[in-house]
Amino acid sequence: MTRPEQAYVLTIAGSDSSGGAGIQADIKTIHALGGHAATALTALTAQSAKAVYDIFEVPPAFIVRQIEIALADMTIHAIKTGMLASRRVIEAVGPLLDDYTGALIVDPVMVATSGGQLLENDACSALQSLIIRQANLVTPNMPEAALLTNRSVETVDDMKFAADILMRDGAKSVLIKGGHGTDPLIIDLLATENGFETFEHPRLAKENIELHGTGCMLASAIAISLAQGLDLSAASKRAIAYVQGVLGGNDKVTDIKAG
Ligand code: PLP
Repeated sequence: MTRPEQAYVLTIAGSDSSGGAGIQADIKTIHALGGHAATALTALTAQSAKAVYDIFEVPPAFIVRQIEIALADMTIHAIKTGMLASRRVIEAVGPLLDDYTGALIVDPVMVATSGGQLLENDACSALQSLIIRQANLVTPNMPEAALLTNRSVETVDDMKFAADILMRDGAKSVLIKGGHGTDPLIIDLLATENGFETFEHPRLAKENIELHGTGCMLASAIAISLAQGLDLSAASKRAIAYVQGVLGGNDKVTDIKAG
């Protein structure tokens, strides 16, 4: 893809009223990395850093309007999905992605870092068959990879096995985030049609429950980087460096340039 002057990402995700995760994290990340974020809100959450208290789902027809208008009005170079909340929302969003030709990055949000459920129980299979199937990249953490593949995911070999299953089911590539393990060294695994690549980085801010939204930031940083013309490996490295910067206390990272 030739590099656009201004890259646009459409994020289809939920609002985190505490401002740490969700669409708030997506917008911040995409702008920090030099892009523009268009948004389609799927749900509003009332939450603090410690718990999700309430969820208000946006009527699916209105979610569809937001997406249709964004796609009709501007050139969207990448779409990123986050919290999709329910089967109803997934069934409304899925068909809109069928004809989309840019990069689709799917963060399969299921459970908030604080433990609140963000995807209804019966929605997992719809997420697989209607959304993940079309993804250029899906970015589960280890528990999400386990839920999506029905097997435990604890080691790098487990991650490889789970990534193969997700790719067999249609995802073009998979980035499994190792952050939910306990080792001081985190290993993220990128699986593409060319094979496996691992990214190692030190664990930071493990005890910091105030800081959630790293999954949202990572997927958004990859989306904007792909939109700006980076390949998947370079986009993943840049995104990991961005999140590491935020965890290290620097959320004004503007010096990591695409390319
Ligand atoms: N989306 C919303 C709206 C959320 O509230 C959360 C977590 O609280 C997430 C996504 C996932 O956040 P994380 O990146 O911490 O997994």
